[in-house]
Order: sequence, then C-alpha cells, then structure tokens
Amino acid sequence: MNKQKYICPICGYDELGAPPYDEKGEPSFETCPCCGFEYDLDDYDISFEDYRATWVINGFNWADESKKIGT
Ligand SMILES: [Zn+2]
Repeated sequence: MNKQKYICPICGYDELGAPPYDEKGEPSFETCPCCGFEYDLDDYDISFEDYRATWVINGFNWADESKKIGT
C-alpha cells in the first residue's frame, strides 16, 4: 500500500504526510520540513509567493535538515 504524499505549495517538497490544505481550505497545521512554512490560517497575511521569495533570498535553507532528500 502506497502512502499518499503531498506537495508543499511553496517550495515543491513532495514528501508531506498530509495535505497542507484540504479541499475546504482547512490547514493541516504542519510545518514544511523544507521551507519551514507552517500551514495555518495566520499565513494568509503573507502570500505563498512572498514567503517563497524570502526563503529563496535567505538561501533555500531546510527547516529540518534530517528530512533533506535528493542530494
Ligand atoms: Zn515547503
């Protein structure tokens, strides 16, 4: 049985164990181990694009180095 994986809408990390937002827009309250974005309602005051731009400027740092893949 394959475990469904979900993609981070900010950085494209594709090993999320739960959808960041469900079909009703309810957040998972998880934090992306890659870009560190927390999927909750507070984040609607910053767009995904703005968050990603800041993350890129800061050097694509992994929020959780232990989850790093593909290198
Ligand atoms: Zn991410």
